[in-house]
Amino acid sequence: MSTTTETRPFEAEVAQVLRLVTHSLYSHKEIFLRELVSNASDACDKLRFEAIGKPELLGDDAELHIDIAFDKDAKTLTVRDNGIGMSRDEIVANLGSIASSGTRKFLESLSGEQQADARLIGQFGVGFYSAFVVADKVTVLSRRAGADAKDGVRWESDGKGEYSLAVEDVAARGTSVILHLKEDDIEFADGWKLRDLIRKYSDHVAFPIRMRKQKDGKPADEWETVNDASALWAKPKSEITDDEYKAFYKSLGHDFNDPLAWTHNRVEGSQRFTTLLYVPAQPPFDLLMGARDERRGVRLYIKRVFIMDAAEELLPNYLRFVRGVVDADDLPLNVSREILQHNRQIERIKASCVKRVLDLIEHLAKNDADKFKTFCKAFGNTLKEGIVEDPSNRERIARLLRFASTQGEGAEQNVSLDDYVGRMQPGQDTIWYVTADSYRAAAGSPQLEAFKAKGIEVLLMFDRVDEWMVGQFTEYAGKQLKNVAKGELPLDAADKLKQEEAAKAAEPLVKKLKELLGDRVSDVRVSARLTDSPSCLALSDYELAPHLARLLREAGQDVPDSKPTLEINPAHALVKRVESEADETKAKDLAMLLLEQAEITAGAALSDPAAFVQRMNRALLGTRT
Ligand code: ADP
Ligand code: MG
Repeated sequence: MSTTTETRPFEAEVAQVLRLVTHSLYSHKEIFLRELVSNASDACDKLRFEAIGKPELLGDDAELHIDIAFDKDAKTLTVRDNGIGMSRDEIVANLGSIASSGTRKFLESLSGEQQADARLIGQFGVGFYSAFVVADKVTVLSRRAGADAKDGVRWESDGKGEYSLAVEDVAARGTSVILHLKEDDIEFADGWKLRDLIRKYSDHVAFPIRMRKQKDGKPADEWETVNDASALWAKPKSEITDDEYKAFYKSLGHDFNDPLAWTHNRVEGSQRFTTLLYVPAQPPFDLLMGARDERRGVRLYIKRVFIMDAAEELLPNYLRFVRGVVDADDLPLNVSREILQHNRQIERIKASCVKRVLDLIEHLAKNDADKFKTFCKAFGNTLKEGIVEDPSNRERIARLLRFASTQGEGAEQNVSLDDYVGRMQPGQDTIWYVTADSYRAAAGSPQLEAFKAKGIEVLLMFDRVDEWMVGQFTEYAGKQLKNVAKGELPLDAADKLKQEEAAKAAEPLVKKLKELLGDRVSDVRVSARLTDSPSCLALSDYELAPHLARLLREAGQDVPDSKPTLEINPAHALVKRVESEADETKAKDLAMLLLEQAEITAGAALSDPAAFVQRMNRALLGTRT
């Protein structure tokens, strides 16, 4: 019996999410069913988990299931489960507010592009609201497991600004979500259509999804199970088709697209477990957002009982794009997250997951060039984090990385370290790279000139993670990795002699430049790196690359000021002009310009852009003021 009905506004964010969801999903309407079934399935999982300690919660209704019913005349569609249910407070918290911190990120990450935005829904915990894509009114009746019938709740909303809430008798445990279908969406009140959608999206939900049998085109009294209702991962591989694997991925990952690849393994022996892990074809949202907290996407089961999403415990950060299921036979059902974090069995399972995923990526690299290319594009940069994060697998990960190179095809990142090593020149014992903040900046870097002249290949790195990675990654296959802007160059004896002579001859010039530049530089010296450009910066071994220092400063971080070392090319006409310029003011302008152009090509920020422009104009006009 309904007592008092109370009306409340949605939280502002909910109202906004509702508008966006209903707006951006209209070409993927049908996924509302997947979302509601997934919630019903979660509710059954939660009850089964709670009932481990409190079996009485199940009462005489221990068979957990999901029922889908429709009424063409009344234009309703109902998704009902006998899972955990919700109390009044839980309904308010779960359906009226967005507690999850993901919501704001969701709102921010909407691109306005329908296909992309639709992928985001569900991943952010806004799945329930997709009901309003097809319904102009949604009624939820719920009773928490363990609560009395009189403590049931009715929640109702037209999905605009408000919802109503009333205490009402609810006969059985669990939740019914009743959709009052929009005129245009009556098609969903159809037995065939619904069966079809369930098989498409929810076949491997591990609980029976039931519908009434059809008799003479009408629903009869008896129920039948319309999904496979088995845990896909628990079946032998030989009995699973590719389409089933793909469909399971879609229900698991809330992704519309097929996965790129998957790996399914059963481990027997002293410790038994099953892993089914997928690599998506496109970055999931949390990867795009760079979100490192609240990682989701790998579900831990213990003997088929869903325990929790344990992505953080089961996979390292650099494999955070992986989605899947781990089912362990030997863990106690009452594990907590704290226990998982220090559990040896989990550590072993994690190591096995890492191995399987790396095996899978290696397999792609060897056997499927197209897929591997897709992988590198989507996750290559994420994988690089593994070089730092997972030293025990460093060699394996390094072999899977691909870079652009001075001998590659433009900005295409398709040169492996093994390719590089295979092309090394006789006597070369260093893998050279340059870092910058874009392909153009890397490829155009003056530091490359001497390498180009000698035909030595240089890897071009221009992702933010690269600089961080190479900070720890100093050796591969017995070869040193070195930045072309740092340290000694690979000069043979003849080159060395030439270099020394050039330095000697340029001593007065270097002295003059040091005086002109004063405390703007820590040192000036003759470069062995340059052939065409007049100047460049050289870095000491521990110095932060100038473009990175700039990025960090822009991000509000404290970066110690370090004065640059300027290298010059005494053969360059501009450098010669500084040498011959007798007018001190003009000579100073030119010296500063040598420094500033070196800073610009290195991606550093100019400390005084206006002064630079004035100097440049004076130099162009040949004036002093
Ligand atoms: P998500 O499932 O990602 O958390 P949803 O928008 O789909 O986000 O659902 C919001 C919340 O509402 C769920 O987390 C759950 O707590 C609650 N909920 C939704 N449907 C049910 C249901 N059938 N039974 C119990 N709780 C539910
Ligand atoms: Mg959901």
